[in-house]
Amino acid sequence: MLKICKFGGSSLANAKQFAKVKGIIESDEARKCIVVSAPGKGENEPQKITDLLFACYENRKINSELNKLFGLVESRYLTIQKELAIESTIAEDLAKIKEALKQDKISEAELVSRGEFLSAKLLAAYLGYAFLDSKDLVCFGFDGKINHKETRERIIEAFKQVDRAVIPGFYGSYPNGDVCLFSRGGSDVTGSYFAEALDANLYENFTDVSGFYMCDPRLIPNPHKINEISYEELRELSYAGAQVLHEETILPLMEKAIPLVVLNSNAPEEAGTIIKENAIGHHLITGLTGKKGFMAITFVKTYFADKLETIRQVLNVFSRYQVPVEHIPTSIDSFSIIVEKNKIEDRLEALKSDLKKIEEIVSISEDHDVALITIVGKNMAKKSGVSGRLLSTFGDEKINIKLIDQGREEINIIVGISNDDFERSLKALYSRFAKEIV
Ligand code: ASP
Repeated sequence: MLKICKFGGSSLANAKQFAKVKGIIESDEARKCIVVSAPGKGENEPQKITDLLFACYENRKINSELNKLFGLVESRYLTIQKELAIESTIAEDLAKIKEALKQDKISEAELVSRGEFLSAKLLAAYLGYAFLDSKDLVCFGFDGKINHKETRERIIEAFKQVDRAVIPGFYGSYPNGDVCLFSRGGSDVTGSYFAEALDANLYENFTDVSGFYMCDPRLIPNPHKINEISYEELRELSYAGAQVLHEETILPLMEKAIPLVVLNSNAPEEAGTIIKENAIGHHLITGLTGKKGFMAITFVKTYFADKLETIRQVLNVFSRYQVPVEHIPTSIDSFSIIVEKNKIEDRLEALKSDLKKIEEIVSISEDHDVALITIVGKNMAKKSGVSGRLLSTFGDEKINIKLIDQGREEINIIVGISNDDFERSLKALYSRFAKEIV
C-alpha cells in the first residue's frame, strides 16, 4: 500500500503545524512519499514564504529592504528548526541563498523554489526520511511543459534507492538544469506526478479545510460538503474559479484512475472529499462557482455560419496576441469571443486594430461587464428540464442573462451575467438547488 501525501503551506506554517504533520505521517505506514509546499500563512505568521521570496527578488538591489525581507524568511525556518530541535544544515543553506541573491547570481525561479526546498529538507530531517530534490526528478521542456515520460522514469528510479522520502513541490528543471516553476499552487501537481509514476493507491492532499463545498463558504454560510466528485467535475469547477486544487492536478491521476482525497491537517479524522472515477453524488448539482471580470467582443457580419474563414482569421488574431479564448457563443449573423479582461487589457487596442483589418466584418462591439457562473454536476446529464429550471432562477431574480453555454458532456452549464449580479446569482442558485437529490 502506497499513499502520496501532499501538505500545503498552511499545514507547514510553523513548528506546531510541522509537529501535526509528523503525527499524521507516522500514524499510517503507507504514507511513504511526502510532497510539501513552502510554509504558508499561520496563526502568527501573516505571510507566505513564497510571497516573501518573490519580494526578496524584487528588492535584491536594495540592501536594507532585502535584509529585512530575507530576515523574515530566515527566522521562519530557523524558528521551526529550533523549536523542534531538528538537526539540519538549513542555516548554511539560507546563508548561501542570501549571498547568491546579493550578488545577483540566482534566478527568480530558483530563489522562489527555495521555499519548498528548505521546507522539504527540514521535514525530511524531522521525520528521518530521505530528501529528494525535484530539480533532479521533475523535468520540463524549454517550452515550460512537463516531460511526463522522463519525469516518470526518474521518479521510479529514485524510489528504487529509497523507501520513504520528502520531496519539495512546485518546481522542477529545464533540460539545462535551470529551475522551472509550476504556476502558483503547483505543489498539488507535483504530488500528482509522483502518485502517477509510483502507481500510488491514494493521493492524500492535506490542506486547512475538510474538503470541498457545493459553493464558496465565504458567500453561502455552511454550504453542503461534497463527499465524492468525479475528475471531470472537479476540473470544470477548478477551471471555472473554485479555489480548490491547482487545475492541472487531476490529469496525471486520471490516466491511472488514482483517487485523490482532500483532507484537513487540523482535523485529519474528518472524511474530506474524494475525487475519483465513477464518483457517486446524490445532489443534482455538485458545485456552483464562477468568476467576475470577463469581456465579450462581438463580431457582426451577415451569415457567419457560412464563413468559417472569417472566424478562423479572428481566432488567429487572438492567438497571435496570446489571449486565451474562454467561450465563443454564436448566432447566425454574429459571434462573440469571451476573454478574461486582465489577459487582454494591455493589448486590446493593438488587437482591435488588427481585427478591423479583417474584411467582411461589419461591426465589432465590446461588453466590458461580464461575469461567468458555472454550474457543474454529472447528475444533470440526460435529464430534461434542468437547464430550464436553472435559467428560470435567473428570471425569478430579474437577472439578465448575457450568454449561455452547455458543454456536450452535459456536466456543466455556463451563464454570463453582469458583474453586479454575480453574488446574487450564486445565492439564488444555491437556495433553489441545494436540496435537490436525484
Ligand atoms: N508555495 C507555492 C505557492 O504559494 C506553491 C504551492 O504552495 O503549491 O504558490
